[in-house]
Amino acid sequence: MPYHPITKAIRTQTPTTDEMEHSTPLFLTSSFRFDSAEDMADAFNEVNDHNIYTRFSNPTVQEFTNKMCALEGAEDGFSCASGMAAIFGTFMTFLQSGDHILSCASIFGSTHTLLTKYMPKWGIDYSYGSVNDVDSWESLIKPNTKMIYLETPTNPGLDVVDMEAVGKLAKKHNLMFVVDNCFATPILQRPIEFGADLVIHSATKWLDGQGRVLGGIVVGKKELIREIYLFCRNTGPSMSPFNAWVLTKSLETLDVRIQRHCDNAEALAKKLEGHAKINTLKYPFMPSHPAYAIAKKQMSRGGCLVNFEVKGGLDAGRKFMNALKMITLTSNLGDSRSIASHPASTTHSKLSAADQLSVGITPGMIRLSVGLEHVDDIAADVLQALEQC
Ligand SMILES: *Cc1c(COP(=O)(O)O)cnc(C)c1O
Repeated sequence: MPYHPITKAIRTQTPTTDEMEHSTPLFLTSSFRFDSAEDMADAFNEVNDHNIYTRFSNPTVQEFTNKMCALEGAEDGFSCASGMAAIFGTFMTFLQSGDHILSCASIFGSTHTLLTKYMPKWGIDYSYGSVNDVDSWESLIKPNTKMIYLETPTNPGLDVVDMEAVGKLAKKHNLMFVVDNCFATPILQRPIEFGADLVIHSATKWLDGQGRVLGGIVVGKKELIREIYLFCRNTGPSMSPFNAWVLTKSLETLDVRIQRHCDNAEALAKKLEGHAKINTLKYPFMPSHPAYAIAKKQMSRGGCLVNFEVKGGLDAGRKFMNALKMITLTSNLGDSRSIASHPASTTHSKLSAADQLSVGITPGMIRLSVGLEHVDDIAADVLQALEQC
């Protein structure tokens, strides 16, 4: 019987060397040697599959890639230096001048900047559909639309988009369907099961899970990954073997970490909903979430983040952040340590109030990446900070 994906994430390993190591070795080398000129020529001509140079491939990086393919149910993958390198590499591989990409406004900030500021420089246009009205997306498809790019749940709004509906739309119009699965991880949802051709991750977040290294990956159909590989091997966004070693070890504990993150986030959401200092709370597995039914359909659990809006707007949001004693104020998420952020005064402060609202951000909104500390300690810190708002 084939192993379960989480077993493969633990047991997949580069072949044991003569040293008989148990934990996986780190191949910290920029290039690989050959026994003969013929051997080297064969490697360059792809007659054999020997590693040549770490910008192209590296065994430690490949181990991480293989584990992610097992977790996502993907045929192949390519690992990159960061999540943004994976996203940019994917866009650059498949899009060309005159193409159009369909996405939604509440995507990761740097992805939004790519679509709105840089892609237009190469004549690549975009449209944004509404996250809660996927039925209206068909009307946004143009003759030159090439790709649908989704993120669900979204950062930081925690909007949930119907992957099954978007997958069907992409298939009907013969469009490439790409999903940024960073917020759910393959433990909670597998976009390929809903028709995604490619799935992208920022490995910097829960895949590492301890806030140490940057990383990214794209997995999916073999023939598409081959194109991405050829683009990346020539342009250089490859993952460092050192980072790959950290990340491949992290995947051994991904399932248990995500389950505990979800336990804590669920318990915290329940405790906070209806709190006198909170206007609204958003958690995908709470019936009050606008896309609760869709979240239940495509995710196995509600995820590791909770969003809430403190009463009193921007000022109250800042007060809440300043009152926290344990939870960290830092520009990351997906760490074993709980992290709070206030998008309206930080990551999205340059947007107008109306633009902030259009991506699901209100002035008093707090995004909490719920960590692995004892849930009572996390809740106590949030509750005491709310008292001071
Ligand atoms: C952080 C993040 C990215 C970018 O990843 P980096 O590793 O920081 O480059 C992309 N998408 C989402 C949803 C993210 O949270």
